[in-house]
Amino acid sequence: MREIGGRGSLAGPRAIALLLGATLVLAALLAWQAQDAARSHRRAAEGTLRDDSRFAAREFLRRARFEVDHFGLYPIIYVLSANERAFPGGALPDREEIARLSRRMRNGPLPARALFRLDVATGTVSASPEAPEDLVAWVRANLPGLVAGKTPPEGELAAETISVAGAPRTIVYGVSPDSSRICLAFEVDTKDLAPFLERAFADGPLLPAAAGAEPIPLFLELSDAWGRVLLRRGSSFDAALGFEERLAGPRAGIFRGMTLRVSVPAEAARRLLVGGLPPSRLPVVLGALTLAAGLLAAAVALARRERAVAAMRSDFVSAVSHELRTPLAQIRLFAETLMLERTRTAEERRRSLAIIDQEARRLSHLVDNTLQFTRAERGTIALELADHDLSGIVRDAIEAFSPIAAARGVRVAVQIPETLMARVDEGAVRQILINLLDNAVKYGPPGQQVVVGLESGPRSLRLFVEDQGPGIAPGDRERIWEKFARLPRRDQAHAGGAGIGLSVVRDLASLHGATARVEAGVGSGSRFVVEFPPAAAAPSLEGIPAGGKA
Ligand code: ADP
Repeated sequence: MREIGGRGSLAGPRAIALLLGATLVLAALLAWQAQDAARSHRRAAEGTLRDDSRFAAREFLRRARFEVDHFGLYPIIYVLSANERAFPGGALPDREEIARLSRRMRNGPLPARALFRLDVATGTVSASPEAPEDLVAWVRANLPGLVAGKTPPEGELAAETISVAGAPRTIVYGVSPDSSRICLAFEVDTKDLAPFLERAFADGPLLPAAAGAEPIPLFLELSDAWGRVLLRRGSSFDAALGFEERLAGPRAGIFRGMTLRVSVPAEAARRLLVGGLPPSRLPVVLGALTLAAGLLAAAVALARRERAVAAMRSDFVSAVSHELRTPLAQIRLFAETLMLERTRTAEERRRSLAIIDQEARRLSHLVDNTLQFTRAERGTIALELADHDLSGIVRDAIEAFSPIAAARGVRVAVQIPETLMARVDEGAVRQILINLLDNAVKYGPPGQQVVVGLESGPRSLRLFVEDQGPGIAPGDRERIWEKFARLPRRDQAHAGGAGIGLSVVRDLASLHGATARVEAGVGSGSRFVVEFPPAAAAPSLEGIPAGGKA
């Protein structure tokens, strides 16, 4: 039976789990592909934006060189050349003189701090009076070699960044436009380039913007060979979208050794790229994967539960069949004894009838429980609540149960008031009590005393059954109420059962809004308590007699 039921009910969940597993694998594959495609799409988009950054950097550099060369450096060389023309081989002009001579220049020149002249043929170096000693010594030692090695073409300037006595210095030099024999040089501080760089930056957008659009707010930073920032615009450099270059090569001039970093902001991507930067698909991909994994886990859990329930159901069916068989066999045996008139005395006849009665009661009790249980499973139990005398119901149930108790020599003591009105379903309360009594007799020792009590307090109404049996360990006190739950105890091997009695008690109790629990009894035994809410107890809490209600 279990086989057929098992296969029929498990094929579905297992197939679903398998299908979901395949879906999960497929989803993972798709997710990986989507993620890969998104990543390469993003890489391509970032590459395009990096190209834009590079373009802007080159444009800035072109303008900066123009500004610095034409307005900052050449004027000095021209003034020096003019002086050379007027006083060939004479004293170099001082700083004020350069300032005076170049006053008509638009933006420059750069403040030159020391001036030098080198006679290329003789290697003689002369310096302006402000030139510091150690710098003059450096120029004497190095400039002839530099000019001999790579004389800048006429009209171009070369520059050397050096450190003399720990201080950063830049020497700019070029051949005189009038005589290639004379090399003119001067020292400038790269920090003084700032106004020229600012003008280069401000001279219109560095990236071609769509007509009418605002210029792109670029990040741009130029720092000199010693790491000093000469110009910074924008808030932060984005390495993924940016371009960084350390300027080198013979044509870098005064910019040689400087570092230029430019990046377009991610917010501007939409204006520079069709569709903008592709957003990350990771959240969606991860969401889909999590969903598929969750479905798979749910299907596996469902399949497991289904299997456990199928096994329990089949155990239940065999337990109930077994439970039915025992009283039936007893009834048949004693009925036969009577029919064949095998009894010798009236007392024996009476005992046989008592056993038949007791077993028939047990049978009907079992059938009631099974019916109640299946109704609870289907959710079709409906109570018929009415005002009843609870004490009367308890007394009747104990009376009906007495043959079974007597068969085990169990004495049932009662601690109940004369009358106690409550709004309950009579049949349900009877079944609750009989189930608890049946367990007390079944699991307790023969000859024990079982106490049935009914207590009404200001806030609740308690029905309890206390036995002198083995008790229930605190760790088991919750799970015994689950359907089909039976404790694997050696001392209850003799007691049959299908594991549904307490589950029926709890179902019926909760339909009354009551709670059912077990606690330690006075001795070693246990005390099963059903606690009704004040609403159920309200009409009777003051102990109104049965007929006294209006
Ligand atoms: P069944 O009695 O058919 O096994 P129940 O749902 O009535 O099913 O009880 C569940 C389990 O709780 C029992 O198998 C038993 O182990 C334990 N139990 C119930 N009542 C008592 C009791 N009065 N004393 C000790 N153990 C009990």
